[in-house]
Order: sequence, then structure tokens, then C-alpha cells
Amino acid sequence: MAKYIFVTGGVVSSLGKGIASASIGKLLEARGLKVSLIKCDPYINVDPGTMNPYQHGEVYVTEDGAETDLDLGHYERFTNALLTKDNNITTGKIYYSVINKERKGDYLGKTVQIIPHITGEIKENIKKVAYLRRVDVVIVEIGGTVGDIESLPFLEAIRQLRLELGPHYAINIHVTLVPFIKSAGEIKTKPTQHSVSKLREIGISPDIIICRSEKVLSKEARDKIALFCNVDREAVITAIDVKYIYEIPAMFKREGLDKLIVRLLNLRGEDRGLGAWEKLVLKRLKKSQSKVEIAVVGKYITLQDAYKSVYEALIHGAIANDVKLVTRKIDSEDIEKQGVEKYLKGVDGILVPGGFGQRGIEGKIKAIEFSRENKIPFLGICLGMQTAVIEFARAVCGFKKANSTEFDKNTKYPVISLLEEQEKVVHKGATMRLGAYECRIKKGSLAYKAYKKERIFERHRHRYEFNNHYRKVMEERGLLFSGVNPQKDLVEIIELKNHPWFVACQFHPEFKSKPEKAHPLFREFIRASKEFSKKK
Ligand code: GLN
Repeated sequence: MAKYIFVTGGVVSSLGKGIASASIGKLLEARGLKVSLIKCDPYINVDPGTMNPYQHGEVYVTEDGAETDLDLGHYERFTNALLTKDNNITTGKIYYSVINKERKGDYLGKTVQIIPHITGEIKENIKKVAYLRRVDVVIVEIGGTVGDIESLPFLEAIRQLRLELGPHYAINIHVTLVPFIKSAGEIKTKPTQHSVSKLREIGISPDIIICRSEKVLSKEARDKIALFCNVDREAVITAIDVKYIYEIPAMFKREGLDKLIVRLLNLRGEDRGLGAWEKLVLKRLKKSQSKVEIAVVGKYITLQDAYKSVYEALIHGAIANDVKLVTRKIDSEDIEKQGVEKYLKGVDGILVPGGFGQRGIEGKIKAIEFSRENKIPFLGICLGMQTAVIEFARAVCGFKKANSTEFDKNTKYPVISLLEEQEKVVHKGATMRLGAYECRIKKGSLAYKAYKKERIFERHRHRYEFNNHYRKVMEERGLLFSGVNPQKDLVEIIELKNHPWFVACQFHPEFKSKPEKAHPLFREFIRASKEFSKKK
């Protein structure tokens, strides 16, 4: 029977609960245990797919095509857990299911209520993951901050679940903030005390408290938290700010967190150390000297989380090439207003990530033209591939005002357009081309050099496609279609023949990159950028 770790957060949001949960997963795997992770999101959207990146940050896509919270990205980057649609539970999903059951008559004769029906549905969804994956430990992260109205049913559900499971089958970890007040020169434990007392009001007593802090907690501060929050002193874990998130598992290990968890849950897990993770990731991250500067040209640049997996995959590419990564984040609308030179001069590589809608498109096209003409390494992802096609159609093929029908319905040259099956779609939720699809790679191409195989599977999230009507003419002008989906003959990867490294793909490679094993396209993109930087 699986054991459970419930992770809650207090005081403020953005404490890094997701990374803390992922790090715990990593530490347990390092002890030979099999884990899975679940994120519970208290919002009413069924999934984050219909939310604006400014509201939610990146939408992370799983292999089976679920649009999920970005924390699942951390879980997959840190652990070997295979995540699916079952690993992200939202209030919307729970209510949707309960209401459907009610209409079918599953609760006939009963009044359907938050307790026991909503909480029951949450518990079933959590237990389902343990059952399906046959893991030793399921880490369940509850989104939001304790004290929010929205998360109450989730907290009640985990309270009940722990009680039903009995001793040594579940623990609660609470992540809080211990602020440092500069004027007083002191750290303050009061917000943590209040947050824990809020949690205890609803029947949950944390076993471990992870304290996010700028400074290492003094012995007195630890003692105070332990006393007021009713936990052992060794269960007060300090999580000080680190430069790279990949340092966190080792930091937790030094604090004795894994040992404590194994003891509290009565788990048999022999400590094998972090091994390759420390050697490969940390040493190389910290040691590398030469710098590579990559421009990311998008429209949600001000928001740190909007391209989360892209930024992480770039770091993985840098680790694989022993270079230090510098990212220059550029709003494509600024390029439209003030010209491309001002923003892109001096960079070693240019990346245009995915996106939706017309705003900022022309700036992205200018950035792509700049990389094509100056032979600067380029990686285009999803909308980045579509805009690369538009740029090529306009500048090289002479198709004036060529466009995607997403931005100009009546364009004379619809080089990117909707498939017939997408034309019929009316609902917006979960109706894009989503998840893993096959792609066949042409031998001898840059893509083949990166993947070193012909058959790959990559994750998608888009509606529009390359319009095959233009394939022949573009091929004649020097565009190589190096990756194609064989089932539907859809263009998946394009490259430029007379350019050192210009590759763009319709899928999202960033979702499958890991710190110990950079995605082949990111690894090669950074390698090409490193070479470009040396020649400069
Ligand atoms: N907006 C484009 C489409 O729907 C690209 C999507 C994306 O970049 N994820 O096809």
C-alpha cells in the first residue's frame, strides 16, 4: 500500500512548494523508492488550458495530452515519475465529475454535499494515482495558501485520508515563510506560528515545517518554531534562497529531510546519495566559465513563469555544453517599436517560443529575419515555427503579406492554417492537438544529428499547422522539412539549408528536457550558439 506526503503552504504564495515537492520526490527516488506526485489546484477551471499566461503562467502538457499546472513540469524534471492527466486535480474537474454522477443518478435519494461527496471524489482521485502507478509514495501538493476559502475541501479531504490510512501511512509537510525584517535585523517566526495554528483549526497538524528564509535559522528560531508549532526541533527545516533550483534536493538532504520522512513513514529506503545529479548538474552548473547569451523573444516576457520549461530547458542545454547561460528576455512588441538591432545585437542565439494571438507577431518575425540573415543560431517552438514559416514565405519566396489564418483570415498566402477537423471545433477547452505524436526525421538533417534516430515522439499544444500546399515551393527555395508526422503528413520540423543552425518545430521540446539529460534540440541549439559566440 502506498504512503502519502501532503504538502501545504502558508503565509504567502510563490514559496516554491512545487519545487519543494519535486525535491522530496528526488530524494526518495535516490533511496530507491518509486514515487508519483499530484498537484491539487483549487480553481474552478477544469484545467489551466483556458487561462491566460498572465493569470497562470505556463501550461504544462503531459505525454497523454493533459493541459496541466506548471508544477508538473518541476515534478517531471526532478523525478522519473510518469505523469498523466490524473496527476493534476482541480476543483473544476472534481465538481464536473460529481455533477455528472448526480445527473446520472449515482447518488439517487441523497443530498449531494461538499462533505462527503466532493471530499470523497478528491480522495478517490488521489488514491487512483497510487493504485494505477503502483508507487511507494505519493506526494500530494495542495495549491494556494492555508486560509483560502477555495482550498478548504482539499484540506478536509487530506485530513480524512490521513485518518483513514492510520499511523505511518501519511505525513503533512507545511511550507512557510520566515521573513527577515531588515530594520529590526531579525527573522520573524510569528507568521509561521499563525499559519500552523490556522492549519490546526481545521484538524491538520504538520509533522515537518519547511521554512523559506533569506537567512539560516538560528537555534533559537528553530526552537521557537518547534515549540509553538508542536513539532520536533529536527523537523524544522530551513530552505534558504539558492541560485539554482537544482541545488534544493542537496540542501534538503543536508537538513536531514529525507531521513526524517523515511523514519516517520516507516519506509525501507537505503540512502544511495544524489550521485549523478550532484556531479552532472551541480558541479557543471557552477563550474562552467564561458558564457552564451540567448535571446528569448516572446510576449509574456515580464512574467517569470510564462515560459518556465523553456528557460529550464535552456539551462539544461547549457549544463550539457559546459557553458554559463545568460538569457536576454525580449518583448517582441519592443522590437516592433524600436527596431531589432537595439535588442538583438550581440546575442549568440535566438529562441522564439510558443504563443497565441496577433499581438507581437511582427516583432517575432523581425527577430527571425535577423537570425536568418546574420546566421545566428535559431530555435523556434510552435508559434516560433509558424512565424519562421511566415518570415520565409514573405522574405525568400516573395509571398507578400503571407500569414497564418490565426492572424489574418483573408491572407492571400495562408502558409499556416487550420486543419479541417479543427475548423469544426467550437469548444475551447482541451480541443487543441495535444500530447505526444510521432515524428519521422530525415537522415542527414540537423534534427537527425541532434536526435540520432528517425522515430521520435514529442508533445504538442496547438491548433494551426503548416499548410502543405506550400511545401514544394518552399522546399525549392531552401527550406528543409526535416520532421513529418507520418499518420497525417503534418510538418513537425523545419530547417534552413544555408544556415549553421536554424531549426524550428511544431511541438514543444521543452517539456521533455531534464537537467541530467538536456533535450537534444536544446543541447544542439546551445552547442551551435557556443560555436557562434567563439567565432564572434
Ligand atoms: N497559436 C498557435 C496555434 O494554435 C501556436 C500555439 C503554440 O505556440 N502553442 O497553432
